[in-house]
Amino acid sequence: MIFEQMPAGGDRNFGYLIGDERSRQGVIVDASYAPERLLSTAERHGVKVLYIISTHSHQDHVAGNDYLVERTAAPVVMHASTPHPCDRRVADNEKLAVGNLRLRFLHTPGHIPDHVCVLADDKLLTGDLLFVGKIGGTGPQFPGSDPRQQWESLHRVMQLDAEIEVWPGHDYGVKPSSTIGNEISTNPFLLTKTYDDFVYLKDHWAEYKKAHNIA
Ligand SMILES: [Zn+2]
Repeated sequence: MIFEQMPAGGDRNFGYLIGDERSRQGVIVDASYAPERLLSTAERHGVKVLYIISTHSHQDHVAGNDYLVERTAAPVVMHASTPHPCDRRVADNEKLAVGNLRLRFLHTPGHIPDHVCVLADDKLLTGDLLFVGKIGGTGPQFPGSDPRQQWESLHRVMQLDAEIEVWPGHDYGVKPSSTIGNEISTNPFLLTKTYDDFVYLKDHWAEYKKAHNIA
């Protein structure tokens, strides 16, 4: 598998190129503010972009899509519930063939209703659901967000194999990627035992970070 994580401007956004080595077909996920660099990376690999995928409709994740549509004419793929214009709407658990690769979409609302994670082999693109050591925001500044749904979505991805790699939508952690197993054993939000504890930590995150020297 061809796999490139790219710093994409914005608020330390990450964009991704995923490609099938044999067919040289691929996708760009969350082009953000680096569509030019992601497309030139695809070209450097000889990868034809079949789909342009956004994990969710926040501007910093869809920002580069128009640029890519103009140059590749590839369809934009998002979750079925998205209010954002897109060409192909995917349901929970739907698979998308990209050469010999099968991408699987997991509907993971909480941060925003139309959020999906994208599973490609042993790599999970977690968007703004799960960061390394942190999680996505909820609250009044994120319309449609719901901490209960976020808790359920996090627990859903925690059921995946511990070896599955976590590739987040922002570079907010101590390293740019992790694994499900490592997040389960170290991410303070995934260590909470009950929903009430989870919400308490979210509400007191600023104090927790200060007390634990987390940037
Ligand atoms: Zn977001």
